[in-house]
Parts: sequence; C-alpha cells; structure tokens
Amino acid sequence: MVLAELGGRITHAIHQMRNATIIDEKALNECLNEITRALLQSDVSFSLVKEMQTNIKKIVNLQDLSAGHNKRRIIEQAIFSELCKMLDPGKPAFSPKKTKPSIVMFVGLQGAGKTTTCTKYAYYHQKKGYKPALVCADTFRAGAFDQLKQNATKAKIPFYGSYTESDPVKIAVEGVDRFKKENCDLIIVDTSGRHKQEASLFEEMRQVAEATKPDLVIFVMDSSIGQAAFDQAQAFRQSVAVGAVIITKMDGHAKGGGALSAVAATKSPVIFIGTGEHMDQFEVFDVKPFVNRLLG
Ligand code: GDP
Repeated sequence: MVLAELGGRITHAIHQMRNATIIDEKALNECLNEITRALLQSDVSFSLVKEMQTNIKKIVNLQDLSAGHNKRRIIEQAIFSELCKMLDPGKPAFSPKKTKPSIVMFVGLQGAGKTTTCTKYAYYHQKKGYKPALVCADTFRAGAFDQLKQNATKAKIPFYGSYTESDPVKIAVEGVDRFKKENCDLIIVDTSGRHKQEASLFEEMRQVAEATKPDLVIFVMDSSIGQAAFDQAQAFRQSVAVGAVIITKMDGHAKGGGALSAVAATKSPVIFIGTGEHMDQFEVFDVKPFVNRLLG
C-alpha cells in the first residue's frame, strides 16, 4: 500500500467514525481497527501499531467524557498526535554549523541510495551557503568512487577517494583531514554498504566512525524495504550512533510504513526524503505537514 493509499484509508476510517450516530466503544474500536489494518498493510511494525492503539484508547476515555465533549474531535486529535509521535522521536537531529567543520557519515545497505543521497545532502547544503566536501570510504563496491566522483563533479563539490587504497578507515581519515585544511564546513563520508547485515560491514562502520568522530551518522533506508525496516534500522543503530534517518525512493511504489518503523528503531528523526534519482529530488522532512498531507 503506497503512502497516499494509507492516508486515504485512515481518513476514511475517521470519516466513518465522524458519521456514526453515536460515538461509543464500538465506533471507536471500528475506527482504530481500520487504522491498525491500514498501518500493518503499510509495513509499520506490529508492536508500534499496537502501542499507538493503546495510547489512543488511553487519551480517549469515553466513559469519562460527558455529553458536552466533542468526542469525534478528541478522537481525531488523538489519532493525529499519535501518528506524529510515531514519526517524532522528540529530539531534533544535529544540524551542521558554518562556524566549525561538521563531519557527517552515511551508512546503509548497498542499493539503499547512500551514494546518491550523500551528493543530494551536499548539494542541498551548498545551496544554503555551506562549503561541503565528499569522501568516498566505500572500498568494497567496484565503481563506488567513480559514481561519487561523477555526482560530485556535476554539483561542483570537492571529493576525495582512491582507486588503489583498500582500507576505508585510511581514506576516511585522509579525506576528512584534507577538507578540514581546505576550510570545508561540511565533510560528508560515504561508507560501504553490503547486501546483508554482515558483521564485517558493521565492524568497518564502527572503525570509520571511531577514526573520524562524526558529529552525525545518517542511516539511509530504501522505503520499499517493508517489514524488515525495523530490524535493519535497529541493527545499524546497535553498531554506530545513528542520529538521523533519510528515506529514499519515496517516489516509487513503496509502502511508507518503513519510515515510521525506522524512526522507532533508531529513536532518530527522518530529516529528508529522496523523491527521485536527480540531485534536487530531495525534500526536507517535517512531521506535522507530512501527517497532515497523509490524512489529506
Ligand atoms: P548505494 O549502494 O546505497 O550507494 O545506492 P546508490 O546511491 O548507488 O543508489 C542505488 C540506486 O537507487 C541508483 O540507481 C539511484 O539512482 C537510485 N536512487 C537513489 N535514491 C533514489 C530516490 O530517491 N528515488 C529513486 N527513484 N531512485 C533513487
């Protein structure tokens, strides 16, 4: 189920509740059950959906509400705020300063869109007046450096990498040092992704993080990952201090629920979404407008 469809079903459930003759436990349950089904079919993790349902029931205590209360409105507000809560871990992500160099490390599985997103992130900040630079510490995938180089050249962003060096830690440290000397204020380190959550990938990530001491680690996740999103995001968070999430390929036929699960698993906010292959197909992610749009 794509995001628009999820929104449509939640809105439909709310409309039906609004039109019910009386708002009793049965009407509330019917509405919540429909929302639950829609969220589960969108790949939001089961425990998250269960928690949301429990929270709404706690907020909307029908027995304690007298006839004067607008029960429909209270239920709607509870649904809206619980959907926002699912996407808002309550702490903002680190945002780069122009006064001192910030180091931002990207992690994620191969194919998630990491390399593409690194350039999008650099390009976005370049337009805001930052001086970004890109470091390719992906020595695993043949062609990774060429891809980053091509993207960086197109966006006129300085880059660093090597065709011969096989130690990602060495490249990451050299690149960061070089761009610090060149007074870049946003140094972005792209790391390698593997097909599966292999131990060696996590070990390599840990070493790159230890050596470069990033101010922010961004976990890049493909929105079509489905129910695997929660476990995958959690596995990354257990290895490195993930501080933000970027969801890619939101333009495709992805089920949007993975985003909600990734936030819950990493306790980190989604900061951007990728909406296409091009450099500028990249949007700032804000919870309230997103949920508003979701609910139409
Ligand atoms: P990496 O292995 O994680 O570095 O992934 P890449 O950056 O190489 O991206 C894998 C594929 O996904 C490429 O074909 C990208 O063009 C594509 N891609 C990345 N982000 C998006 C997005 O937001 N939307 C779409 N449609 N494609 C994307």
